[in-house]
Amino acid sequence: QSLTEIKKRGKLVIGTEPTFPPFEFVDEKNQVVGFDIDIANELAKRLGVKLEVVNLPFDSLIPALQQGKIDLIIAGMTITEERAKVVDFSKPYFEANQAIVVRKGSDFLPKGFDGLVGKKVAVQLGTTGDLVVSEIKGIEVVRFQKFTDAFLELQNGRVDAVVLDEAPAKAYVKKFPKFTISAVVDTGETYGIAVRKGNKELLNFVNQTLDIMKGSGTYSKLLQKWFE
Ligand code: GLN
Repeated sequence: QSLTEIKKRGKLVIGTEPTFPPFEFVDEKNQVVGFDIDIANELAKRLGVKLEVVNLPFDSLIPALQQGKIDLIIAGMTITEERAKVVDFSKPYFEANQAIVVRKGSDFLPKGFDGLVGKKVAVQLGTTGDLVVSEIKGIEVVRFQKFTDAFLELQNGRVDAVVLDEAPAKAYVKKFPKFTISAVVDTGETYGIAVRKGNKELLNFVNQTLDIMKGSGTYSKLLQKWFE
């Protein structure tokens, strides 16, 4: 959709997957909040429109974008070559690596993905965490749509570890002290905001907004707010 169409419609429709704190998660008031949502709010504000958040499974976000159900994806989404074939990404706005989360107090403390061989590992379907562990032979990968369900399985002992991005891993461990991060594996990922392939107008607007937010201090305020 062009900016004119979005303005005429009076709302910016974003797609996200809200079990990824502190980027997007459901708070006590049952609202989707987080770092990404604040960026999306800034985008909507600068367009003079309302923000509508559409919650979807992570692996449905790109199809929804392609079908025109959402204007953009903001979901802690790693910029990958494969994805960049089908969507256009903004400039990178965050750096990430993968973390291995296990139950605290057990002697299973894998220091890398190799340590997960022969084990059951929960991931979120279609994420980079899913991709990396699925490439390693001998890991039994159990895929969930929601990280909350993946952590429930870890708690219940039905899986041995959860692999996910470091910042949300830290957020889950902070919330549930019965889990601990046994290792962070340097995967050198960066997050981007995705728009439909060829939607230059929206992409430029997103990049411009990120620049303005960084230049004005809004961006560092958001980092402080969600990552202190
Ligand atoms: N950064 C990871 C990816 O892009 C995970 C994102 C997420 O689960 N929201 O695959």
